[in-house]
Formats: sequence, C-alpha cells, structure tokens
Amino acid sequence: MLFGVQIVSCIIIATILLHYFLNKKMDTFSNKIFSIYLAFSFSNLLFEFMTLWDLYHIDTIVKPAIDVTHLFFLATLVVAIFFFFLYLDAKARGQRRYSAMQYALRFIPMIVALCFVLFGDIAYYTESDGVYSYGPKTYSIYIAVVGYLTFSAIQIIRYRKSFRRQEILAFMLGIGVWGIIAVLQITHRVWLLSSLGLSFMTLLVYLSFENPREYNDYEIEGTFNQYALDTFLNELLQRKKCFYVVDITLRNTVFLKSTIGTSGINEILKDMADTLERELEVSVYHPKRYCITAILQTEKQKTKLMNTRFDFMHEEEGGIRLSPQYSIALLSCPEFADSKEDIHAMLEFAVTQIPEEQKSLYILGDEDIEKKKQSSVIEKVIQQAIDDRSFQVYYQPIYSGKDKQFVSAEALVRLKDPETDKFIPPDIFIPMAEKNGQISEVGNIVFENVCRFIRDNKPEQYGVKYIEVNLSGIQCVDQNLKNILMEYVEKYKLSPEVFNLEITETAAVNMEERLRYNMRVLRECGFKFAMDDFGTGYSNLAKMAKSDFELIKLDRSLIVPCFEKDKDGEAEVVLNSCIDMVLRLGGEIVAEGVETEEQNEYLLQRGVNYIQGYYHSRPLPEDQYLAFLKERSARG
Ligand code: C2E
Ligand code: CA
Ligand code: CA
Repeated sequence: MLFGVQIVSCIIIATILLHYFLNKKMDTFSNKIFSIYLAFSFSNLLFEFMTLWDLYHIDTIVKPAIDVTHLFFLATLVVAIFFFFLYLDAKARGQRRYSAMQYALRFIPMIVALCFVLFGDIAYYTESDGVYSYGPKTYSIYIAVVGYLTFSAIQIIRYRKSFRRQEILAFMLGIGVWGIIAVLQITHRVWLLSSLGLSFMTLLVYLSFENPREYNDYEIEGTFNQYALDTFLNELLQRKKCFYVVDITLRNTVFLKSTIGTSGINEILKDMADTLERELEVSVYHPKRYCITAILQTEKQKTKLMNTRFDFMHEEEGGIRLSPQYSIALLSCPEFADSKEDIHAMLEFAVTQIPEEQKSLYILGDEDIEKKKQSSVIEKVIQQAIDDRSFQVYYQPIYSGKDKQFVSAEALVRLKDPETDKFIPPDIFIPMAEKNGQISEVGNIVFENVCRFIRDNKPEQYGVKYIEVNLSGIQCVDQNLKNILMEYVEKYKLSPEVFNLEITETAAVNMEERLRYNMRVLRECGFKFAMDDFGTGYSNLAKMAKSDFELIKLDRSLIVPCFEKDKDGEAEVVLNSCIDMVLRLGGEIVAEGVETEEQNEYLLQRGVNYIQGYYHSRPLPEDQYLAFLKERSARG
C-alpha cells in the first residue's frame, strides 16, 4: 500500500506525542531533549510524506520544490537522531561532566551531514516499482544516523550502571530492529523503511525510559516518585546548578496511623503537595512514606517559601479537626550536599535535629553538616565496637539505707572513640544505636559482659545481691528477649535473680502488649524489674508504681530542685508525695543522682531505700568497682 509504512509510523509517533504531552512531566533536562526529539521525529515523518508525494508526482512538480522538501526531510532526520543520541548520552553520563571539546565532538557528525544536505548532490529514482532518492546528500544522512546510533550503543554499554536492565534491553532490541531494517533498506531500496525504524525505536525508548508511569507516584496523585527525584537531582548536580531541596516530613506517625490511618495520612500529604505546587510553582515528589519533597531553582522561590505560612489540617467526619505535626527543612545544594545520597542522608538527619513542635522552616547549615559528620563517625565507632564486642561496662554502686552497705550496682555501658581515645557519652550514642537498629546488639554485649563479670568475680561475696541492667525500649518489645537473656544466664551458669532489669518510665507508659508479655515470662524465670527515670514520663503514677516493678528509680530531676538555693516549697511537695505514694503502695525506691551529703541524709530520712550517685561513687570500671567493694566490706 502506498504510504503504508509511513502511516503506521505516523500513528505510533502521534500516539506517543499525545500521551506524552497529556501527562504531567518533570522539568528535567533529559525530558526537554526528549520533547525536542519527539517534535523532530514527527516533523520528519510529515516531510517524508511530502517527499514521497513529490516523487510520485515528479512530472507535475517543479524540481526546486522537490529539492526543498527533501532537504527538510533529511535535515529533520539527522537532527532527530542527534537529539536521540544527546538524550541517551545525558542519561548515560550521570554526574560526569564533559569538557568543551567533548561537547563539540558530539555536534560534528550532525554539522557535516547538514552541510551535505545543503550543498550535496541528490538524484531521484522514480520507476513503476517505487521511488527513492540517492546521492551524497542522502548517503551522508544515513552515515550520520548509523554513527549516532553506534555512539549511543557505546555510551550505554560504557555507562551501563546508569541504566536499568529493562532500559538496556529495550535499547538493544531497538538497535537490532534498526539493523535489520538497514539491511532490508540497502537490498530493497524502494521499500523506504527508515521511518519504521525511527518510530519503533521511539516506542521502545518511550515505554522503558520516558514513560510517565515510571515517574508518577500512585499513592499521592499529582506527585512524582523517588526514581523521578533521583533522576532530577542527578541532572541538576551534573549541570553544576545551585538549587534548594525542601522536604516536609510528618512527625508522630504512629499516632497519626492509629487515628486517621494511611488514607488520612496520604490526604494530608496531598494537601501539602498541592500547597507547595501552588505557592512555589514546582513539581512535588513523594520519595518515601510520610514525606514530600520539592526542588527550588530560584531565590525567588526560596523567599516565597520562607514567607509562606503552612497550616495543614485534617478534617475527619463530624468536623473533628486534627493538626498534624511536621517538620520542614531546606537544604542548599551543592553547597551542603553534592550527591543524591548525601542529599537524602542530610534531609533524613535534619528530621532528627528539628524539635517536634517546630513548624517553621528549618534551614540546614554548617552546624548541621558538622553534626552529621560526627554522627556518621559515631555510627562507625558503634559498629566497630559491636564487631569487636569492645564495649566496656562500668558499675555504679548503689547503697542500701537499711543494710548500710552497697547491695547492688547499675551497669552502665561505655564506648571509647579509638581515634580520640575519649568516651562518647551514652546519651549521645544510645539514641543513635536505637535509631540505627544497633541497640539490641549493644544491649546483648552489655548483658554478656555483666554475666561474665558476676561469674568471674562473685560480687555476692561482698554483699551485692543483684546488678541492674538497662534495657532499651526496643529490646523490651523484642520477641526474642527472654530467649536471648536466658541463653546468656545459662551459658554463665547464673541465676536470673542476680539481675534487675531497668525499663524507662517512657517505655513502660507506652507499654505494648509485647512488653507486658516479655515482663511476665522474664519474671517467671526469676528476673526483677526497676522503673527507670521515674518522674520524667507521664505515667498513671499509682497504677505504674504498684504492681509491675520491684524498684522505682526516682529521676535526678525530681530530686535536685529541692536542694537548690532559691527553691520554693513546691518541688519538695512533689518529691515527698512521690516517695510516700510508692512506699505506701509497698514499692521500693532508688534515688538517682545523689551528689551531696545533705541530699543523702534527707532522702534516707524520708524513707528512700537505696541511694545511687556521685556522693557514694561515680560509675567505676570493673577492677575499681571490685576494689571499692573489697574496701567497703572490709570496713564493715
Ligand atoms: P540512666 O539509666 O538514668 O543512668 C544514670 C546516669 O546518671 C548515668 O549516666 C550515670 O553516670 C549518671 N549519674 C550517676 N550518678 C550521678 C550523679 O550523682 N549526678 C549526675 N549528674 N549524674 C549521675 P551515663 O552513664 O552517662 O548514662 C546515661 C544514660 O545512658 C543512662 O541513663 C541510660 O539511659 C543510658 N544507658 C547507659 N548504659 C546503658 C545500657 O547498657 N543500655 C541502655 N539501653 N542504655 C544505657
Ligand atoms: Ca538506668
Ligand atoms: Ca535513670
């Protein structure tokens, strides 16, 4: 059929064009190049129709008109192929930069071919079996097309890591089809198949590379996914652009999930995305759960962001309004992060730095970069200490008012930075280990250390009845907690009674089913429990104090204010009420952080059972703790 091949090609390209322009697109460089490529491919097809029409009516049309349509046909073909190459090349090279020379080299084949198009000779074959053009003008274009396709293949193979498997396969399939078409074209010149090759390749590339489905996020309508964000970030970094990344992250997601569910959360995120898009005229990404991201490329957008008041609400049925907590952070790139990995890591870190209640924009700066660096150093030190099991355990003696001796001690973990040979405070590394999922291993190492210490040194001979070991909230809800602890206890042939496990008040208040279960089975084995940091959480005091714990550890913050110079009476009332309540409910009390004789006397006189603090002793390494015990028990 006359024009059959061309009509099929035209339908393919027109469908792609339509689909492409109807869908939401990102504002990337490669996207723009792809649009140009599509436009040139489509015009090339239109010119091909005209050239064929001309050749079939060669008797009635003047030669210059035929020459001009051929000129446009050949020129659009070579320009289209050039943009096709540029598109793949941009994707292939990722963040690598080219020199001016490397850039220029890419243009040369196209320019040479265009010169031939303008000044070369062309002849037309018009017989009853078909029509085609030939001569240097035409050949130069075919050579350029083959050249650019070969270059594209080389770049894809060279930088195959920048592509996904399906992309490479699609491209290679396209090249294969084009190769077959080229052979057929040379052996049967009247078949005019080149447009089919072009449209087939476009289809494959479109489906695997530029398909809006690959970029769109389907959870939050109108946003792009993580892959899209990474593609855009790579491109901006590679072009050495300065830009800002804005990240809005929902906080308190456990609460949100239990009140409004995932669909409610997504509604809030959608609202946030719409606001950003409207106010700043940017594309919005939904790279991971509970978080949306936008990229600002102008100072004007940044100023606008700083002046925008965000006030997101979620309205439930019945008109109940819930205002979610979120943090919003701004990162300047490449100033503070110059790879997509760094950008993600920095923004994730930002969330840990922003106070829960802060709703205004948090701008990341030098200080955060420094902190982030330190935190990744600490992360490595923790991992190293886990690998070598090199955490140390210090023991802080606990004094019994009734027995007038040191009947227990709290085991406190110590971590040394091998570089500086200084200790990293547990208040810094424990929360990090909790966040990184390393805390269970840290806890296990500490527990085994304590087991070994008790077996080797038998502190009971000096009157020590049990050692208190801290459990992190994460360990408390570990399915395997009992098995892990019992394994160590059995390995070191100890009795669980020599342990008192400390659980913080906050963990105990949010007591999940699993913690209750763990406490029950551990208690059945013989372990005892202490509620740590009492006075810092928000417990139903009476209920907590009564049944679940043998010991209540009064936090230092409850004690210190009673002994300050400018104290009012209130702190004392609170402290004394707590003490009375626990005692009257039959519990026992450890006062923590006791530093002076005055505090010691007062608390003992009030009926507090045990005293722990610098007044009696700082936490001590094993050998010093043993020496301390020996010396005190000798004193009697
Ligand atoms: P914590 O459980 O409340 O431990 C008591 C902290 O108070 C210890 O800090 C101790 O050195 C300090 N302290 C003791 N007496 C005094 C005093 O008189 N005055 C003052 N100002 N402080 C005193 P440390 O060793 O730095 O530990 C900090 C926190 O790290 C602990 O608080 C605990 O929450 C956590 N931690 C320590 N070791 C472990 C562990 O093995 N596992 C887990 N999960 N957490 C641990
Ligand atoms: Ca403790
Ligand atoms: Ca404590």
